[in-house]
Amino acid sequence: MTTVVRHEVVILGAGMSGLCMAVKLKRTGIDDFVILEKQPGLGGTWWDNRYPGAHVDVPAPVYSFSFAPNPDWQRRFASAPEIQAYMQRVAERFDVLRHVRFSTRITDARFDDDHGRWTIRTDANDALDARFFVCSTGPLNQPRWPDIAGIDQFAGRRLHSARWDPQADLSGQRVAVIGTGSTASQLVAPIARRAQRLHVFQRTANWVLPRMDRRYHRLDRWLAHLPPYAKAVRAAWVLVLEAGRRGFDEGTLARRAMLAAAARHLQRQVPDEALRKRLTPDYPLGCKRIIYSNDFYPALTWPQVELVTDAITRITPGAIVTADGREREIDTLVCATGFDTVHLLSSLQVTGRGGRTLREAWADGPEAYRGVTVAGFPNLFLMLGPNTATGHTSTLLFIEPSADHAIACMRAVRDGGHRCVTVRDPVFRAYNQALQRRLAGSVWAQCRSWYRMDGDGRIVALFPGFTREYVRGLERIAPADYEFT
Ligand code: NAP
Repeated sequence: MTTVVRHEVVILGAGMSGLCMAVKLKRTGIDDFVILEKQPGLGGTWWDNRYPGAHVDVPAPVYSFSFAPNPDWQRRFASAPEIQAYMQRVAERFDVLRHVRFSTRITDARFDDDHGRWTIRTDANDALDARFFVCSTGPLNQPRWPDIAGIDQFAGRRLHSARWDPQADLSGQRVAVIGTGSTASQLVAPIARRAQRLHVFQRTANWVLPRMDRRYHRLDRWLAHLPPYAKAVRAAWVLVLEAGRRGFDEGTLARRAMLAAAARHLQRQVPDEALRKRLTPDYPLGCKRIIYSNDFYPALTWPQVELVTDAITRITPGAIVTADGREREIDTLVCATGFDTVHLLSSLQVTGRGGRTLREAWADGPEAYRGVTVAGFPNLFLMLGPNTATGHTSTLLFIEPSADHAIACMRAVRDGGHRCVTVRDPVFRAYNQALQRRLAGSVWAQCRSWYRMDGDGRIVALFPGFTREYVRGLERIAPADYEFT
């Protein structure tokens, strides 16, 4: 017989947003929750993405929670292990770890309208009964392998950047990297330093800006222990990044400055004109995620590295074949080919009101109200849900207000003696229609990217506005928006 354990809240995923939700629940006085995490450790994306050179691409002072500043960052752009260690410390400090069940996958979640509760089943063959269900997996969760003929027949080692094998040693190997996005731009130089030969397969050239990285010295760390200094540094970075949002609008000064910086960066780092030409993007800046890197371009000029821009036609057991008929023999294939950002939560069956599944509700792509709630799915809250990614700032600035909003909804249910809360259908629709109208004319509609359905359809991942607009939208729970039952 399956055991059923009752909780007030079940959280799916122990990444940044799951951790944030847990701390905020505790601070609100809700201690009866459990986090189910499929991996054996804390970190979410920072657990999954342990490829060489992984680091955050926004400054660390804004990649820490407002309630848990970290005065000990070693660099402005923190590495994946450093971020993971920070998360571990936050979890310990706020006593979250005892709430986490590691190595446990949720297989199925079903809402019972009569009782206003979710029944959540796991692969450990047990079930949880919870009033509120929080899905904090985010869009960058399921690795996407390239759909290239023959890839399954490849006989060498095959790695995906988001499922990196920490034991993998690429020293002296012939390696291929497929992809030249944010991830590839971080791993190309570290791999090139070890490999005998590295072929980098680029389908689309991307915009690359300098990464204004620097080491934090003892004085920086001493100052960062002073709360007013730490707050001022964080606030300053928030403003700087927010100003960068202007760079996505045609004709702005910020955009001109970014275009000039990108051109200068390419010119300085790649002396060879023919290579520069192949690295020049053919889509508007900002349409795909901008890359911030100081070592990607230089690595492509090293003698052991080759940039391949001919299309890949197939993969054989020992080589990659390109459209010009050339075959490059390799020992290891590294796919830095990103994530499935459309089929969110597809590894589990989520059934809401009237037996309707999330898969059915999202048949034309995922959508949510302000990224947090979904019509027909009461007491369900998404963290980093549809249309909450940004191209200019830290996701943590979106995670914190989303968690506050979800908790405010939970409190309204509890305090009001209600069974459940759900966003009103017309509000949900109007919000998403307005969002899509706005996105249709934006820079993000002008190229293929992971922000869009099937690469070139509806934009399902990105929020088009400034952070303050998103935050303001979540500030209150309007009775006109939500229905309490
Ligand atoms: P991505 O931006 O989706 O890039 C995937 C790359 O693989 C692209 O260059 C793509 O080419 C290429 N690709 C995919 N399928 C291919 C195929 N069949 N044949 C050839 N090339 C193929 O994925 P990502 O680089 O992993 O980055 C995803 C997001 O993760 C980023 O935008 C960022 O938000 C996040 N990220 C963040 C950090 C951080 O520091 N915080 C670090 C890494 C990643 P096309 O461009 O032609 O599609």
